[in-house]
Amino acid sequence: MTAVSLDDVVFSYGDVPVVDGVSLDVPEGDFLGLVGPNGSGKSTLLTLMLGLQRPDSGEVRLFGEPAHEFADGERVAYVAQDVTKTARDMPITVREVVRMGRYPRNLFGRFSAADHAAVDDALERVDIFDLADRRVGSLSGGQRQRVFVARALAAETELLALDEPTVALDAESRESFYTLLGELNDQGMTIVLVEHDIGVVTARASRIACLNKRLFFHGPSDDFADSDALAAAYGTDQRVLDHTHHHHDATVSSDENATEGQS
Ligand code: ADP
Repeated sequence: MTAVSLDDVVFSYGDVPVVDGVSLDVPEGDFLGLVGPNGSGKSTLLTLMLGLQRPDSGEVRLFGEPAHEFADGERVAYVAQDVTKTARDMPITVREVVRMGRYPRNLFGRFSAADHAAVDDALERVDIFDLADRRVGSLSGGQRQRVFVARALAAETELLALDEPTVALDAESRESFYTLLGELNDQGMTIVLVEHDIGVVTARASRIACLNKRLFFHGPSDDFADSDALAAAYGTDQRVLDHTHHHHDATVSSDENATEGQS
């Protein structure tokens, strides 16, 4: 089955065209990296894929249904770019956040033994079981990312969409977070990842979609490196192209309040 399908999708913010005739399918089990220069419409395309915005024209389907009508919320999880910044101030524990993944099944607030087991299992799978009773706000950026992935796992999400999830992480946390995503994908989860660092994403994703309003490339990651799509989509900005090969040098953690060490 196809997790997401886009057919000739067009979208503008007012008069500003942002997505211009994009068609692509994300089969179930895929790990798609969405790349493109700043402002190329990656985040917007992700929200269109999830039915959070409607295209001006064209069609978006999620698991076969029109995306804006898709009601099976727990099958899809979205980790937005700013989610972990928001979580910095959350006065609740890791376990409570992960348990939110079970809310669609528990409108009246009672959790079954199966719910508790699913929460524990999710915490184990992303290796934060030790942090279960910690406040989310006291964690490092990398640990907080794992909390939101655990919430998706507890919800038995089939499609995980992430928008630059490691932007605030140091190189080591980023590496281990992407290793985790790779493992989840191996276990069958469909992943769509927006990531500006081309070196990182081509190493992890099985397929790449390269966007700059329109689609410049869609295919296996290995073919992307050899294609002309990168230069075509990014223009002749050699600085950008150079940067893709030196990503580890420039990584600075913006998480000065974070406490590392327990994960
Ligand atoms: P990317 O994720 O590739 O950086 P975005 O999808 O965030 O690209 O943005 C694409 C373009 O749309 C940019 O020019 C951006 O300024 C504009 N844009 C993004 N969000 C909005 C919005 N809510 N209202 C108006 N313009 C927006």
